[in-house]
Amino acid sequence: MSKRIVIALGGNALGNGPDEQFAAARNTAKAIADLIEEGHQVVISHGNGPQVGMIHLAMGELNAKEPDKYPPTPLPICGAMSQGYIGFDLQNTLRTELLDRGVNKEVVTLITQVVVDAGDPAFQKPTKPIGSFMSHEEALAVEAEGIYAVTEDAGRGWRRVVASPKPQRIVEIGLIEAMVNEGYIVIACGGGGIPVIQKGNQLEGVAAVIDKDYASCRLAKDLDADYLIILTAVEKAAIHYGKADQQWLSDISIAEAEKYIAEGHFAPGSMLPKMEAAVDFAKSKSGRRALITLLEKARDGVAGRTGTAIAG
Ligand code: ADP
Ligand code: MG
Repeated sequence: MSKRIVIALGGNALGNGPDEQFAAARNTAKAIADLIEEGHQVVISHGNGPQVGMIHLAMGELNAKEPDKYPPTPLPICGAMSQGYIGFDLQNTLRTELLDRGVNKEVVTLITQVVVDAGDPAFQKPTKPIGSFMSHEEALAVEAEGIYAVTEDAGRGWRRVVASPKPQRIVEIGLIEAMVNEGYIVIACGGGGIPVIQKGNQLEGVAAVIDKDYASCRLAKDLDADYLIILTAVEKAAIHYGKADQQWLSDISIAEAEKYIAEGHFAPGSMLPKMEAAVDFAKSKSGRRALITLLEKARDGVAGRTGTAIAG
């Protein structure tokens, strides 16, 4: 039976740099085209960690060294660029894959803004490290000058840190829905969407990062999707991950997922937002299912053969 499926692609699975990304997009297009050929209505969102990092390094950080010559590019604009850069490869490769299979469907990438709440507690406690590594001295100087907040990143060094607020509202949701209803394949909410704060009629970009797993959950709920599929670098989520008693999770109930979340089995910033998004979606309406699996296993996952599935 035809389902409406929101597929969230992991930014890490999209590779580093244009060549790797094109190859990854071509593979991804195959998995997505399989689902479209089976008659499902597919909407695509994606992460952008490594990609926005690359853009921000060149256009934000390096430009900041010669600001008179090259005005440094703020993070929300880097986010918009990453939506275009990733969307282009996905749109282009999926179009070719569908044409090669004789499927006549248009693919479109939509620059997507997502409203966040200026009062979100995340702004008081930034958690998302971005940009290049600095020495401790550099980091302290940057912070003392009030340029931005810094943090020690997982024992690897010091980096700038930005807030990761929750998505409140997808600005272009009406357009996305209209295009999906028309039968177009829409790529939206890239990188979690460009975070904006509403000021009257104006939407102002903020230097923050919305987790694409939460934004994809918002998108799937708004579109009344049947399925939220989060494709990443592992086939299943696990409890006791990386330990001797590690146990992969297959079909689990909402209650089990919530118990494992509370017990701290999922790493914040990687698997935790996926599990939280999956639970949130599965809980939101009966019949909704969420799945976390490997990019190449999307089709098997939808068929119930693999992945971690949570159903309401
Ligand atoms: P994406 O780019 O797809 O969002 P992330 O790196 O943010 O990918 O999250 C996926 C990663 O989460 C996996 O590759 C894995 O290393 C890590 N991870 C952390 N905790 C777990 C867990 N309990 N089970 C499975 N994977 C986990
Ligand atoms: Mg992630």
